[in-house]
Parts: sequence; structure tokens; C-alpha cells
Amino acid sequence: MSLSDHELDRYARHIALPQVGGIGQRKLKSASVALVGAGGIGNAVLPALVGAGVGRITIIDNDVAEIANLHRQPLFREADAGQPKAVLAADAMARVNRFVQLRPLRQRIDTGNAASLLSGHDLVIDGSDNFATRLAVSDACVAAGLPLLSAAAVQFQGQVALFRARPCYRCFVGDAIDADDCDNCSELGVLGALTATVGSFAALLAINAIVGVGSDQAGQLHLFDGERLAWRRIRIPPDPSCKACASA
Ligand SMILES: [Zn+2]
Repeated sequence: MSLSDHELDRYARHIALPQVGGIGQRKLKSASVALVGAGGIGNAVLPALVGAGVGRITIIDNDVAEIANLHRQPLFREADAGQPKAVLAADAMARVNRFVQLRPLRQRIDTGNAASLLSGHDLVIDGSDNFATRLAVSDACVAAGLPLLSAAAVQFQGQVALFRARPCYRCFVGDAIDADDCDNCSELGVLGALTATVGSFAALLAINAIVGVGSDQAGQLHLFDGERLAWRRIRIPPDPSCKACASA
């Protein structure tokens, strides 16, 4: 996949990086990413991926924008309240980079449709806000052999992890959908700048994974503490009885 003169100009600061170069930029252009959730995480992931020139991005979200989203979702405006986030986010990003194919899907992803909605992508990024969605997305990724980048932020805490086959997200959280550490922002609150930090970190990890920069981060959990302002990293062990990946 070649780059036009305009694209060579647009991505000049990327192409100047020895770790990226023209080869890396063409990898980004060839990549197809599915983003689950156009909330706080998605609002940070999208501008980074669109700016970086990821070729195709599907945005899956069935929510509408609300005034209470605006402190952490800068792609939306006050006048957007009540409008579908997937469409709003795609429209906002289409104005930034016409070389990115954006496909908004105003759908809730679940166990019934996850396989078909995610198929055909190279990477799935999950920035959704509930365990039912995350487990449905993870199980579909394991079954299809798709890498999954999971990112979440609540209160002052953030977590980002890349999964390839095994261990999977289900190994990490177990089967309990109503876990005690349920991280629903509407109930627990979340700092806007925290979601931006965690979403930007997830976008960086995604770009590195697509281009092949650094070591493979699969199975590593990156945790951010927004009060101590520190990241730490721990390895996620595979669950020997995981019902998604143990027999895969
Ligand atoms: Zn597993």
C-alpha cells in the first residue's frame, strides 16, 4: 500500500522516526481496527489513531452523547446531547483525516453479534464500560484469533492490557460479570484527564503493536494510579480453567 505526496507530508514526523519510517506508516495505513465504545477511552484513542493514519476504523457504540459525558469526551459538543456517539465521533474524525475510512456502527455488541461485528479487523480495542460487553468482546476475539487491547478507567485508576489468544481478558477478570470491582463510571465517577491519559496510552500501545515497535506487550497489565501519578506493570497468568482460552 503506497503513500501519496499528501500523505508523505502529513505523516512526515512519523516517517522521520527510525522505528516507524515509510514501512511503519504503510503498516498503519493497511491496518483495520475495531473500537468498541466511543466513551472516555474511545475519545482519546480515536484522535490518536486517526491522526496516525490507521487505514480503517470501525466505531461500535449504541449510546447517545450526554452533558455528563463532556468532561471526558472532547469529541462531543453541548449541542450533540441526544445524538449517537458512534456517528458524532466518526463525523468529528472525518474532518481530521480524509485518508481514514471511518465506519460508525450504532449497535450494542453482545455474545450474539460480536463475532460478525469484529471479523475482518486486525486489532480490537475495547473501551467499553461494562463486564458483559468486555467478556463478549474477549470471547469473540479468542475464538477468532484476534488481538484485543482492553482499556478501562474509573475514579483515579486506569488499566490497559493487550491479549493475544492466551492469557485472555477472561483469565484476568474471571467469569463473574457482577464483580465487586465493577467499574461503571456513572456510579463511581471518573476524572476526565484520567480517561484521556489511559486512552492515549492504549493508543500508543496499539500503534506500537501495529508498527512493531518495542517488545510484544501481550499478557502484560499496565496499571495507572492517577493520585500517585505512576504506572506499574504486572504479568497476567493464564487461568488453567479459563472457559474461553484454556482449550483454544
Ligand atoms: Zn482465558
